[in-house]
Amino acid sequence: MKLRLPLLQFVSHGNPAPKFYSAAPNNVVTWTTLITQLSRSNKPFHALNSFNRMRAAGIYPNHFTFSAILPACANTLILIHGQQMHALIHKHCFDTDTFVATALLDMYAKCCHMLFAVKVFDEMPHRSLVSWNAMIVGFLRNKLYVRAIGIFREVLRDAALDPDEVSFSSVLSACASVVDLGFGMQVHGNIVKRGLIVLVYVNNSLVDMYCKCGSFDAANKLFDAAGDRDIVTWNVMIVGCGRSENFEQAWSFFRAMKREGVVPDEASCSSLLHASASVAVLAQGTLIHNHVLKTGYLKNACVLSSLVTMYGKCGNLFDAYRVFQEIENCNVVCWTAMIAVCHQHGCANEAIELFEEMLREGVVPEYITFVSVLSACSHTGLVDDGFKYFNSMVSVHNIKPGPEHYACMVDLLGRVGRLEEACNFIESMPIKPDSSVWGALLGACGKYADVEMGRKVAERLFKLEPDNPGNYRLLSNIYTRHGMLEKADEVRQLMGINRVRKETGCSWIDVKDRTFVFTVNDRSHSRTDEIHEMLQKLKELIKKRGYVAETQFATNIVEGTEEQSLWYHSEKLALAFGLLVLPVGSPVRIKKNLRTCGDCHTVMKFASEIFKREIIVRDINRFHRFTNGLCSCRDYW
Ligand code: ZN
Ligand code: ZN
Repeated sequence: MKLRLPLLQFVSHGNPAPKFYSAAPNNVVTWTTLITQLSRSNKPFHALNSFNRMRAAGIYPNHFTFSAILPACANTLILIHGQQMHALIHKHCFDTDTFVATALLDMYAKCCHMLFAVKVFDEMPHRSLVSWNAMIVGFLRNKLYVRAIGIFREVLRDAALDPDEVSFSSVLSACASVVDLGFGMQVHGNIVKRGLIVLVYVNNSLVDMYCKCGSFDAANKLFDAAGDRDIVTWNVMIVGCGRSENFEQAWSFFRAMKREGVVPDEASCSSLLHASASVAVLAQGTLIHNHVLKTGYLKNACVLSSLVTMYGKCGNLFDAYRVFQEIENCNVVCWTAMIAVCHQHGCANEAIELFEEMLREGVVPEYITFVSVLSACSHTGLVDDGFKYFNSMVSVHNIKPGPEHYACMVDLLGRVGRLEEACNFIESMPIKPDSSVWGALLGACGKYADVEMGRKVAERLFKLEPDNPGNYRLLSNIYTRHGMLEKADEVRQLMGINRVRKETGCSWIDVKDRTFVFTVNDRSHSRTDEIHEMLQKLKELIKKRGYVAETQFATNIVEGTEEQSLWYHSEKLALAFGLLVLPVGSPVRIKKNLRTCGDCHTVMKFASEIFKREIIVRDINRFHRFTNGLCSCRDYW
């Protein structure tokens, strides 16, 4: 962590400057060499100290000295250092020097003061390509992507300038950030015209731009055509696969890379772990863990937090926690990963405890940390704590809440039935509520079967996201529960009118190293008859223990067949198959693409008790870990 020191005149640390130089500097050249070395070896305070000593010795800095000291000023991240230097540069009349002025605007950009940078740039009598590049990179660094692209366009228009690899790769990065594929392609043409495509660095930026703009095929073509590839090229492709959800392909790139003798680095490992986590493939994630152990990347916080997330998403809370405990220098990313995993596993109290512990350790939480913490509060019904943390975001941590946080708060109020308050909370939001916020309220209306509010909220949502089948389903269920069957029908018809595609329920189960998929009503499996026999047996067993079918979860079904239809839900089929083929006592892990229904949830609880097995269902929202007839979510999801 960078230490923020009080603003003294070029403060320095107590220790003397290391001896890069055997003899004490005695002229401007030797002093400048010393300052350059200190500045480059990331000792900005030492560099500033030497600069002061040089001036105290009566030696005047020249333009080399200033361009060497300015990066050190930027590295202290204290603007006043740079501003004082700026005043000195003015005094010595170096502010018209292209070399010095470029270093000056670069310093302002690094200190996040683009206004000052622009002012310096505008006042420069002569500008080199380096000055223009410094502006592009500065805008990019400060996330002003459109401005970065604007400066690049000016460079293109100026016949005297010949943009180089820095200009191109920076502008490509800006295009990627604003997803401007059109301009990205123009830049591509320009790169080819100038013959810069042969540079690995430029080619990597292009591949990255295509991946981020969603044009994975174009990226793939470029990758295949690339003459030279380095580790970055491979990583860009692996990340790109992950982004376009081609997880299998991410793995084949990883294997291919190893075949070509390229040793995967931290970035490759952590991208691949993300890919494994997204599809929850434990076996592959474990492979990467072994690779990480062998290569010694276990010191890298990025890799470790990805490991925590991977184990968490694959349903192994225990392994996630074990990795977490072994992390030496736990940064906010690791803490946040562990908190999120606890929350997804229904251990909301533990998530909140971890958060408190993290604060005690002096780790500063981030935007995303609060999303997990607030959802943990909402899942445990801790309204007061939730508000305490929510308010602390602005008052203590200076983080502006985003839609995700507001949605958590609405969910928090909604779950405990304080619907009116939730509604008022939305009205008082300083930002425009999005579909996630209204969706949270609709969920609450569904839970408490509030017809009036449900209808109003659903109408807003139909406008905001007409394609989301979940909203229609929720409203139609509310009507059904009040016996308003005609109304429920109307909602379903509306779905047809709006051409909403109903997502088919789908569940996956891993057996050995194969994944089996079941859709609702699926009869395609070769052991279908056995599966249905197993389900029949399960039904009889649990009926004896008091199971009653929760037919409100059967939708779009001919009257009289509601109960039977529940037994064709994909997660039940996967469960039955798991019970048939997995060794006695071993856990059953199921993934589902939608939210699991209340009836399946009840059946899983019974099954975990009867068969003495742990059953883990990961639905679209969270994990359900069923043991001895209970679920980790405490029926609260
Ligand atoms: Zn179900
Ligand atoms: Zn549950």
